[in-house]
Amino acid sequence: MCGFVGLIQARGVEADVVPSLVLGLQAVQHRGQDAAGIATWDRSDRIRLYKDVGRVSEVFTDEAIRALPGRAGVGHVRYPTGGGATRNDAQPFMTRRPSIALAHNGNLTNLAEIRRHLAIRGMRAVSLCDSESILLALADELQQQQLVGHSTEDLVVAVRRTMQRLRGGYSVVALAEIDGELTLATFRDPHGIRPAVYGRTPGGGWAVASESVSLDVNDARLEGEVPPGGLVLLRPGGEPVVVEILHEAQRHCIFEDIYFARPDSVMAGSRVYARRWAFGERLAREWQARGLEADVVVAVPDTSRPAAQAMAERLGLPYREGFIKNRYSGRTFIMPDQATREAAMRLKINLIDEIFRDQRVVIVDDSIVRGTTMRRLVQMVRQHDPREIHVAIFSPAVRHPCFYGIDMPSQYELVAHGPEQGSALEARLAIAFGADTVAFLSEEGLLEVAGAEICAACFTGIYPIEVNEEERGDIVRDRRPHIVADAAALTFE
Ligand code: SF4
Repeated sequence: MCGFVGLIQARGVEADVVPSLVLGLQAVQHRGQDAAGIATWDRSDRIRLYKDVGRVSEVFTDEAIRALPGRAGVGHVRYPTGGGATRNDAQPFMTRRPSIALAHNGNLTNLAEIRRHLAIRGMRAVSLCDSESILLALADELQQQQLVGHSTEDLVVAVRRTMQRLRGGYSVVALAEIDGELTLATFRDPHGIRPAVYGRTPGGGWAVASESVSLDVNDARLEGEVPPGGLVLLRPGGEPVVVEILHEAQRHCIFEDIYFARPDSVMAGSRVYARRWAFGERLAREWQARGLEADVVVAVPDTSRPAAQAMAERLGLPYREGFIKNRYSGRTFIMPDQATREAAMRLKINLIDEIFRDQRVVIVDDSIVRGTTMRRLVQMVRQHDPREIHVAIFSPAVRHPCFYGIDMPSQYELVAHGPEQGSALEARLAIAFGADTVAFLSEEGLLEVAGAEICAACFTGIYPIEVNEEERGDIVRDRRPHIVADAAALTFE
């Protein structure tokens, strides 16, 4: 997963854009903490680029910010779901002929095919990051239209030809000179799997971002989402130019709403907070229908709070903050290896004894991926002598890998993967976690709340974009080189 921001100042605003880009990136820091970068377009029409490994506040020192003058730019925070984790793989990327700065969120499933195409065209990416290949393909298509002086028409043709080559979930932001004017361009995969929004800044500039919270921190008004398969062109003082390039049925990643996005973001037409609340209400109905009873509802912080509060309200039970999170320890799911994640867990959460002791507790969490966090949490709660521990998850079981940009590419790592489904799976996981019961939201419940225009492949195994065996193997080898020796990890069902 990654996050991006693009900004172009209103006409007459002479201030450098980089402080606003830094703010926008900090607002989506949760989307990636491995590296950060910004490219700006300076007043001599040169692209300035600075990127490094680390969080935004670590990378963008005063000195780095001073090195990035200009009234327009694009920025990126990186969590690698493909390629390496070095400075060389950090985004944005840039080309000089034509001058383009580009950043991207998502995962291409046919990267090997694109690299073969680029090689035939005499180009080779110097990084392992798929964004560089997108940039090279786009720059090549643009050069095939004209060598200099590109028009909107040229860009539309170049984006269309590029998108015809790309497969996977992606959203892209780019800065280039089009029709003689600096232009912020953003496009999104045909199903709109990965998010992208745009908004107007005070005075008539424009902002583009993975999440609307990056617009909020810059006082930009949300104008809309980049349509699935659409291209949006933005220039100061002008209206957005929206072009349909390759539209297919919308399949917004529902894992964004469940886990990844901030609750104050607006995605796929609704506030993430409201959707999490609705998931909690639906889960409460399903939980009650099983005839279960409890004394108190506790959320695993932070993502689960709205769903847990909704569940408590619906069940007529008190909601309590039983887990106290150390804010400075990071997210376990986003950390790159198992040993680090387990050590981080001990640092991450402490419990309030009185909330659990002698109580029948419902622990609400967003999802179960590896199961490490929940197993450890239940162990910790047991040490406080509760009467019963019930685990309630406001999403269905994650039983299939994701190939579109969320870091769970191998079924090998998914604790819910296997032949059991439904109550048999829940019983197996209750034993594995040491809980009295485990209950997932049903797939019907997920669809009732979120609608049909979603990707839910990690729950259902129904992939909106076909990924063949070779591509699946490539993605796992890229992300999990340590498990490729296990043949089961490369056998997809
Ligand atoms: S498979 Fe799951 S995580 Fe991946 S894009 Fe689809 S819903 Fe999102």
